[in-house]
Amino acid sequence: MTLIDQLRSSVAGPVLGPGDDDFAAEVAAWNTATLHTPDVAVGLTSEEDAAALVRLAASAGTPVRVLATGHGSATPVTGGILATTSRLAGVTIDADQRIAHINAGCRWADVIEAAAEHGLAPIAGASANVGCIGYTLGGGLGPLARTYGFSSDWARAFRVAVASGEVITASATENPDLFWALRGGKGGFGIVTSMDFELVELSTLYGGSVFFDAPQIADALSTWAEWTKTLPETATTSVIILRLPPLEFIPEPLRGKTVLSARFAFVGDPAEGERLFQPIRDVGPTIIDAVAELPAAAIATIHNDPTDPGPGWDRGGLLNEIDADFVEAFLGAAGPDQQVPFVAIEIRHLGGATRRDVPEGSAVGGRGGAYTYFMAGVPDPSLFATVLPPAADALLEPLRPWIATETTINYAGGLKVPGSYEASWPAGTFTRLAEIRATYDPNTVFPYGPA
Ligand SMILES: Cc1cc2nc3c(=O)[nH]c(=O)nc-3n(C[C@H](O)[C@H](O)[C@H](O)COP(=O)(O)OP(=O)(O)OC[C@H]3O[C@@H](n4cnc5c(N)ncnc54)[C@H](O)[C@@H]3O)c2cc1C
Repeated sequence: MTLIDQLRSSVAGPVLGPGDDDFAAEVAAWNTATLHTPDVAVGLTSEEDAAALVRLAASAGTPVRVLATGHGSATPVTGGILATTSRLAGVTIDADQRIAHINAGCRWADVIEAAAEHGLAPIAGASANVGCIGYTLGGGLGPLARTYGFSSDWARAFRVAVASGEVITASATENPDLFWALRGGKGGFGIVTSMDFELVELSTLYGGSVFFDAPQIADALSTWAEWTKTLPETATTSVIILRLPPLEFIPEPLRGKTVLSARFAFVGDPAEGERLFQPIRDVGPTIIDAVAELPAAAIATIHNDPTDPGPGWDRGGLLNEIDADFVEAFLGAAGPDQQVPFVAIEIRHLGGATRRDVPEGSAVGGRGGAYTYFMAGVPDPSLFATVLPPAADALLEPLRPWIATETTINYAGGLKVPGSYEASWPAGTFTRLAEIRATYDPNTVFPYGPA
């Protein structure tokens, strides 16, 4: 029997080869520039499916990779088995314990909605469309990061189909070494089938975003950079320079413009939030001011990330402390007068809780970062391999004095930048992650890292 026939007789979900009608839809990623071409796609419907798949793959020596939403699909999977998790749907909330039990197919929107019914919220990312597991395995920095830390700090347990073919629990008390690794170590450990995630009591926030037109960008950025140094850790903020096309789907006041959006999220008395945000409003006229008290469930409106699939290319990393010289260098490289092929260039403020590890320790990299940087290229795949990498290098060159040597894996740009994989964890953590991978997956059923 071929592997595909064995899978079909052992797994309840669909098992599809490249010749099957539904194959393309099964392996489609949110990043449409990435075309996955595994030998087999397996749609998981249960823990039992995951275990059966792993047992067969391990005995056949066939590598297994996982696709949830495809938000992290920067590198195509070109062989082996691609296990898809979208059918592992559903989240249940234990309001008394403040725990969400999140199945592997969930996106943050599912958890945000379910938790809000109990006045609770997950420490999620900027986009509610991103998959909870892939995001949390990489640490996860969201709009409340300074107040609540990395999202992986809130993971309480994972169920994982490991290379032995068993589904095991990784928590502070069961397989704690694997639990440590899954909180930020990202890949190469198994198929996570579900996660228990602690929620916080949070119904409302003071937050949102304001948009400044091109003439205000220099003032807004230098005010923002100074202002971040004054903020308590109950406030998290970021700025993004957007070069928006003159297309219908862009809201009319922003269409065709280069703008700076300053985002803000404050946990506490709204009047205090408003007072803290005033220096940004004082910069001058805004095109849109959408900072106000808002339901915690509206958290994804703070960053206004794209929701529809499309071709994506990005590069990111961490910055050390920034100053007026950084702002000057940044405006010289990426300001509104520059012609750069990047539709979005973002800086997020870290610190506060992102600097503190959980008491039992976790693998996540980037706790030393003071800010993140991130840039998204013009969404034209013909530029991805040719124009964008050297343009990103050129943009970053004058910012070198502020770029941190460490990064964090969700910002490492899909491992395409040489050295970014190794830089995504402190050296000791990187070594320990490799040891834990070797313990749980001695024959590399779950390959991970730059090919
Ligand atoms: C629009 C957008 C907004 C984003 N915002 C943020 C943000 O605010 N903060 C942040 O930190 N990151 C952010 N990211 C990055 C995002 O967290 C990563 O790309 C993450 O890997 C996406 O996970 P996914 O499961 O949705 O994507 P996928 O591409 O499906 O998965 C990515 C990887 O996660 C792993 N994985 C996923 N599910 C499983 C599983 N069940 N078992 C084992 N491994 C699994 C696999 O290694 C897989 O290759 C954003 C990305 C995009 C495109």
